Amino acid sequence: MSDLLERLRGRGWRLTAQRRVVAEVLDGEHVHLTADEVHARAVERLPEISRATVYNTLGELVCIGEVLEVATDGRAKRYDPNAHHAHQHLICSGCGAIRDVHPLGDPLAALPEAERFGFTVSGAEITYRGLCPQCTNRP
Ligand SMILES: [Zn+2]
Ligand SMILES: [Zn+2]
Repeated sequence: MSDLLERLRGRGWRLTAQRRVVAEVLDGEHVHLTADEVHARAVERLPEISRATVYNTLGELVCIGEVLEVATDGRAKRYDPNAHHAHQHLICSGCGAIRDVHPLGDPLAALPEAERFGFTVSGAEITYRGLCPQCTNRP
């Protein structure tokens, strides 16, 4: 059973067949799927699941904090089940592949007091960009 499913069970989220399939599709490490990709995979398991249901379920999962929405410059939003482990993203500028990465040090601490403008800072999102090995080796 996936970590996400386990978490949803643990918090008593009503797991209908549709919701379960969406959670199953989002299971795993380095999973960052667009809503359309989630839908395409969900249909393989539950042919009658509609796009609207997938979109609504993703929205609810984001709302309850179990799935992160990752904005990737100009491309469709991705959905990331790794919501409980602080991490940053490394994105390939060639193909859009995304990896979860854990930079050394605390990104919050990296912002000096003088740069905080009196804000109480609670989070940081850092996006590293580059070319993945496949794109680097592409002629
Ligand atoms: Zn690439
Ligand atoms: Zn991620």
